[in-house]
Amino acid sequence: MATAHANIQALTAARFEMPAKFTQFCENGGQPLGGYIGGQSVPGSMNATFETVDPGSLDVLARVCEMGEAEVDRAVTAAQAAFAGNGVNGWRDFPVDERCELVMKLVELADRDRDVLLACEIHDGGKVSELAEGDVDQIRACAEYFCDVARRIPLGDGPSMDVADGVRGFTYREPWGVVAGIIPWNYPIVLTSWFMFPALLAGNCIIIKPAEDTPLSALYLAKLAEEAGFPPGVINVLPGRGELTGQAIAEHPGIRYISFTGSPGVGQHILRTCDRHGTRMKREMGGNGAAIVLDDADPEVVARMIGRHANQHFGQTCCTIHRVFVDQKIADDFIDAERHFFENLKIGYQAEEGTQLGAVINPTQMSRVLKAQSETVARGGQPVVAGGPAEVPGRKGFYVKPALYRTQPGVQCNPQEVFHTFATICPVSSAEQALELANSTPYGLGASVWTKDVDRGIALAKQLRDGTCQVNCHNSIAYGLPYGGQGISGGPGAGVNCEDTFRDYTQVKAVYVSEYPEA
Ligand code: NAD
Repeated sequence: MATAHANIQALTAARFEMPAKFTQFCENGGQPLGGYIGGQSVPGSMNATFETVDPGSLDVLARVCEMGEAEVDRAVTAAQAAFAGNGVNGWRDFPVDERCELVMKLVELADRDRDVLLACEIHDGGKVSELAEGDVDQIRACAEYFCDVARRIPLGDGPSMDVADGVRGFTYREPWGVVAGIIPWNYPIVLTSWFMFPALLAGNCIIIKPAEDTPLSALYLAKLAEEAGFPPGVINVLPGRGELTGQAIAEHPGIRYISFTGSPGVGQHILRTCDRHGTRMKREMGGNGAAIVLDDADPEVVARMIGRHANQHFGQTCCTIHRVFVDQKIADDFIDAERHFFENLKIGYQAEEGTQLGAVINPTQMSRVLKAQSETVARGGQPVVAGGPAEVPGRKGFYVKPALYRTQPGVQCNPQEVFHTFATICPVSSAEQALELANSTPYGLGASVWTKDVDRGIALAKQLRDGTCQVNCHNSIAYGLPYGGQGISGGPGAGVNCEDTFRDYTQVKAVYVSEYPEA
């Protein structure tokens, strides 16, 4: 059912109190939280720890042990052992129903400890509750979808065919063995689920490398996996920095497949690294999302809808809208309405009632956003809402004001993903011009068309050079449809959340069998 106009507003926080169970988990009896390898909490051989903080208050939530090369190697050995077992009882040999049963047990435990997982997303990830609630829902939705897919798509022998006299051939589909998931900080629990469930259900053992800013939810899921009864080594979690832990994962030849979500530069680097030893990879990367607003749209309503999506997780959503192309007939009204929406976003602490725009995740990100704002002006963007650092009384945190600019065709003032509530609005003379400008980017993740004429919208959406093209909506995902990128935003691989995602976690070989020659 479509949302009534009056209800279109930015995602908003309800007040959230940290549950005692989350605090206890973070305190860990006074010890830093270890990595999780082979069913055990592991402090790591480097004796190195790092702090994970709440970005809206800068309170230290937990100390976490950093995993190095030795731990990556140990996790690979544990995962290989769990995969193969003693030849008959490894994870690869588990019947699909037994794998599903364990996955759904983990989901039940996640439901039981929903408030702890919400605390991970709200305090470690810096999200408002309205978004965090939806993220935690993805654990169950993703697990149920991929259990169904795993039951429907058989692995093992395909149908046999005669290929020559006395020779038959068939395909054999099998899991990779040990796979790794390298995860960014913006949707930690969603992406851990999106990688972990299809990989496990296809029979792989997995190593998860959460982002250094948001390690808590993956570590908590590992704890729940142990309680659910997963055999040791099937799920391993290695917290640490990208250049250290992530790099060691990319360099380890025992990992046969890597799923990566993050920035295009890092994805390109990992692909080059792992390709040297034949490890395959799939990548979901950043975007520079566009929205095209046609002349028949109601400027005030559509400005609010676009504003809501542009501000989802404060613009730190991969397919967020950063570039708007609006028909010049309605441009002034649209820009005015968007200015009103951006200016009225309630900036505040993400766990406090009413907040709509919280802190960005870390100081590097804050500098990046502020630099992008000044560069946009230097490149010819005219400020409509000026941006700059924001103050939240009583809170230390990485707060930045939203930014909105008016631009014109031919002025390329925001060539890169900014990752904040930031947009340029360019008045255009036709839908064709809007399409051409929207497509003039090396990114290709998500874009949308906004119009009362849905058929016209669909026709234009199909011409967008993006993995996800939408009409009168944006940031949509659904299980059964691939979520992936074109251009530098994704691939190889089939995107996430569809049947081909499940197949990505398997490889297929051809087997030929000839009769033994008679004497
Ligand atoms: P990032 O690329 O900096 O980091 C992603 C992960 O890679 C982190 O775990 C990091 O530690 C690791 N990493 C960094 N250097 C590495 C190396 N040398 N070897 C191995 N691993 C390494 O991205 P980020 O800043 O954490 O996340 C934001 C980016 O993710 C944005 O570009 C966003 O658009 C993108 N993203 C894309 C999607 C999607 O589905 N397409 C979803 C969420 C986020």
